[in-house]
Amino acid sequence: MSETQHNKGPWFHRFLIKLLGVALALLCFWLIGFVVNDLGHLPGPNYIEMEERMLDQSLVERYGALKDSIRDTKRTIGEQQKRQTLLRDSTSNSQRTMNQLLAFQKLSLEKDVAPSVEEQQALAESQRLFLSNQKAYQDLNERISELTDHLDGLEAQERELKTTLNEARIPIRAEHRQLQRGHDLRMAGLKMAVLLPLLIVALVLFIKLRGGPYAILAYAVGAAVLVKVVLVMHEYFPSRYFKYILIGVCLLIVLRALFYLIRVLARPQRSWLLKQYREAYEAFVCPVCAYPIRRGPMKYLYWDRRSIRKLASRPAATDEPDEPYACPACSTRLYEKCAKCGEVRHSMLPTCQNCGDTAEADSESG
Ligand SMILES: [Zn+2]
Ligand SMILES: [Zn+2]
Repeated sequence: MSETQHNKGPWFHRFLIKLLGVALALLCFWLIGFVVNDLGHLPGPNYIEMEERMLDQSLVERYGALKDSIRDTKRTIGEQQKRQTLLRDSTSNSQRTMNQLLAFQKLSLEKDVAPSVEEQQALAESQRLFLSNQKAYQDLNERISELTDHLDGLEAQERELKTTLNEARIPIRAEHRQLQRGHDLRMAGLKMAVLLPLLIVALVLFIKLRGGPYAILAYAVGAAVLVKVVLVMHEYFPSRYFKYILIGVCLLIVLRALFYLIRVLARPQRSWLLKQYREAYEAFVCPVCAYPIRRGPMKYLYWDRRSIRKLASRPAATDEPDEPYACPACSTRLYEKCAKCGEVRHSMLPTCQNCGDTAEADSESG
């Protein structure tokens, strides 16, 4: 009796202990996380540095220069096109002026009035402007087409160079990947070197404190370390292997729990049995077969585990004398005369409620 019945305390106290246990686990988890992360922050292989070392830098420079000249050419083409647009406006303007002047002249000729010198001069001037604009527009067109050809050539070169560069980068990338993998493994080893001793400490704590009042300490620390170990493994080991490890661990845990439950059912522990008996007596049903215990004032009533609460709150109708009682369904002894004081007591609970005698009741029966 003594090892199972430690003082449980008020529920708020118990709740507080559990809450603090969770807080302890979280704090441990964070602390371990900080330590492990600080360890894992050693710099790995630097890809940019590797490329500078292993890639032909003249190619890279040529590529950069090509990109620059492509950008410049595009900008020049844009500028020429803008000038062309302005010219087009100007050309259509002078064309309109010219047409108006021509129409005016025609009208004058129809009226047999000779155009004045100024009018003729204005017409000649607008014709000249129109033609020169046309010429400039053509020149710009030629220039733009030349520039576009140049741009096409540059872009073709750029594409070719890009392909070459990409091919040259393949072995560098492969080597970088390999170096990175090695670095990751070293980091994982370093972290595990911290975590494994912690895991052993947690295990020792668990073994020492299990079942005792300080068990929650072991659970909190153990859970924190275990979760961190799993996370680190997940981070560094290829998921191809990791999933097997994870599944294996889960299988072990599930099997362990299953075996435990089956064993408890097959050969129940005393505390577990007593809990069952106590709950059955509270509900006035036989602990072995759950048949209602119809005795005393409840002799002619009907109830089950759900309705017993309502029933039991009614005042007892009669005051019959307490008699020994056996379950009529499974013939288990449920109430009997106390060997010490002679009063009737629960057969399957450890203590007589009259004299406090804790004679070993026949709790293994059934
Ligand atoms: Zn029974
Ligand atoms: Zn007694």
